Formats: sequence, C-alpha cells, structure tokens
Amino acid sequence: MNTTAPAGVTSGAERSRPDLRVYTFADLVTFADLPSLSRAVHDCRRCPLGASRTHAVPGVGPADARILIVGEAPGQNEDLQGEPFVGAAGKLLDQLLRGIGLSRADVFITNILKCRPPGNRDPQPDEVEACSPFLEDQLRLIRPEVVLVLGRHALARLLPGQDSITRVHGRVISRDGVSYIPVYHPAAALYNSFLMKPLEQDFQAVRAHLDRMAARRAVEATAQPVAAARPEEQLTLFG
Ligand code: SF4
Repeated sequence: MNTTAPAGVTSGAERSRPDLRVYTFADLVTFADLPSLSRAVHDCRRCPLGASRTHAVPGVGPADARILIVGEAPGQNEDLQGEPFVGAAGKLLDQLLRGIGLSRADVFITNILKCRPPGNRDPQPDEVEACSPFLEDQLRLIRPEVVLVLGRHALARLLPGQDSITRVHGRVISRDGVSYIPVYHPAAALYNSFLMKPLEQDFQAVRAHLDRMAARRAVEATAQPVAAARPEEQLTLFG
C-alpha cells in the first residue's frame, strides 16, 4: 500500500506543524465542470486501483440530473467498458428505473470508487478516502435533489453513522436540502433473491418521494404569482 501523501496534501508530520495550513484533498480538487472531473479520474493514480484497472469509470448522465445514483465500485464489465452498471446489475437497475417511470436519461450514475477493486473485493477505507473528492465534486456540480444510495458501502460513505442498510433502506433522509434514499444494491438482490421484493419496494418509495416533490413544486408555482400580485393590490388599495 502506498502511504505517501498525494501531491499537495500535507503528510502526518506536516500536520503537527501549527504554522502550516492543513489542506485536505477536497481543498485541492475542485473542477469547473464534469468533463474536466472525468478527465482527472481517467488520469488518477491516487490509490493503488489506478494501476490495476483497465478503465476508470467516472460516471455518466446529464450534468443537470435531478437524481444522482451512487453505487459501490465498477465490476468486471464496467472496468472493461468504462461505464457504470453495464452488467447484470445494470440491467436490473434499468428495469427498476423503468418500473418507476424513469430511464438512464433522467439520472446521473456513479460509484464511490471510480476504479475496480481486484476480484470485486470490498472497497478499502484508504481507497474510499482517496476517491471521495471526486464524488464530493460530482455532488457540488450536479446539485441533485435526490441521491439514491445503493448498498452498504455507499451508505457508509454518504451517510456515516446511519444504521445498517437493512434498517434504513427505503427511507428518505434529508441532508443540506438533498433527499438521500438508501436502497439495497441491485447486485445484492441478484445474489440474494429474497432482497428483490424489498428492492422493488424501495424504488416505489423513490417514486412516491418524487411525486411528493413534484406536487410541492406545483403548489409553489401557483402560490408565487399570487404573492407577486400582492404589492400591486396594496398600491391599488392605497393609490
Ligand atoms: S479509485 Fe479513485 S482515487 Fe483510486 S485511482 Fe481510481 S479514481 Fe483515483
């Protein structure tokens, strides 16, 4: 494991110096847009996965997507093709999206790790930490209203301190004006068929939340012209 601090990031020894500002990786990595972030991911060697991958997988989808889907890491097919969710789990994800009236054109899909862990092993904490600034910047640039959190690793990264995925799946958790909805990972449902029904129900919960948001937006849209008319009404009254 490479323990050298990434270029521009203070080492442990430097952190003990009170006269030095402690730069985090996140301070250093902010991109103007998604294409430049994507190029940086393709060039990235900040953790050992950069050496073992075939292709980096930054993510795909519209830059102004209202829904961001965050999975765990690329698998074998994703690593070969450079796109997220192109294998069996991807087909299931497409099916689940169709079931609630959505398609890939409506969502941006990415993972907490942009490169495949060998043998599809679990992400390691240092890999997640090294890769986190890319996900943070995707959240900043896309500014989604809803984030679908696929599985326990994405849950631990995006909603640290929450209960396990078995307890919180299907719930809406608000953070900084964004609705996070943890759901089981489609790959987990493919391995454990008893998770399929709860996964479908989780997606129905997503649909219900999107409908509530749309209804709220409609109410706000009709309320605004009335509110805007009030000052003129007042002028008429006193004019
Ligand atoms: S997993 Fe993330 S931090 Fe590691 S090399 Fe790939 S893009 Fe860089």
